[in-house]
Amino acid sequence: RNLKKYYPVTGGFFKRTIGNVKAVDDVSFVIRKGETLGLVGESGCGKSTAGRTILRLMKPTGGEILFEGKDITRLAGSKLQKARRDFQMVFQDPYASLNPTQMVGDIIAEPILNYEKRNKKELEQEIKTLLKRVGLPEEAYYKYAHEFSGGQRQRIGIARALALHPKLIVADEPVSALDVSVQSQVLNLLKELQIEFDLTYLFIAHDLSVVKHMSDRIGVMYLGNLVELASNKDLYKEPLHPYTQALISAIPEPNPAKRKERIVLRGDVPSPQNPPTGCPFHTRCPVAMEICSQEKPALAEVRPGHQVACHLY
Ligand code: SF4
Ligand code: MG
Repeated sequence: RNLKKYYPVTGGFFKRTIGNVKAVDDVSFVIRKGETLGLVGESGCGKSTAGRTILRLMKPTGGEILFEGKDITRLAGSKLQKARRDFQMVFQDPYASLNPTQMVGDIIAEPILNYEKRNKKELEQEIKTLLKRVGLPEEAYYKYAHEFSGGQRQRIGIARALALHPKLIVADEPVSALDVSVQSQVLNLLKELQIEFDLTYLFIAHDLSVVKHMSDRIGVMYLGNLVELASNKDLYKEPLHPYTQALISAIPEPNPAKRKERIVLRGDVPSPQNPPTGCPFHTRCPVAMEICSQEKPALAEVRPGHQVACHLY
């Protein structure tokens, strides 16, 4: 609710704070139990920061984060540690997120041992079962992350995320560092595991076709703002926000009969340190009106289950 995450910008010899980057600027949404909520937008739009802040890997600047009705916004220390058991993250870069000096079995055991005292033999068996479930051989337990391909490393990352049987997983661009040929395998694995482990996903990606494949509902972010939120079907069939329309028009359509004209946006995304007044998109919007540079449109439900932040509606 009204989530904000600002980063201070420092400058000069004395590293004085000279401004703020508004990475997430007053964003509100609900993730329903058992669903996959996709979050899309160009790099720097704040989607990763939103995901990390929701999991309380960082402290929000403002707003509230509620998990199963419980306010976790200001939890700290052992209370935060306890709450975190229910959420995990799958990171973009399986190379960077796994410790190369640790055996795979230990990488997966680590989160479990942070919370529970366990019998060594039993735990080893449990982890081997988990490795098999994510499509790796049992022997992977005794190897090191660098001995695996990118897709296999992401499977290790997924096994680690599942080790504690979390309720919510934030997957931040989980396949964008992988070869296209293995992307769909990993995505389908995530889908199967969602049903089997009763998981809820926040699925972050810049690739709209990946998000479409994965999500029940989708939120579109631009410059730290949530500009549209709708069901998968509604968003692709009838995008309302001019920014979403442009993003969707850029998805390659193999069927020439269905092909629509591509909307090319002018200019670059403005700096989040100096966001435009009014609608954050007005400097690039092909249909901007006078009010757009003056007043910021609020996200509002304009059709059942379809929210948009735009003065056109
Ligand atoms: Fe474009 Fe105005 Fe809508 Fe912003 S509020 S998206 S500038 S029409
Ligand atoms: Mg990111």
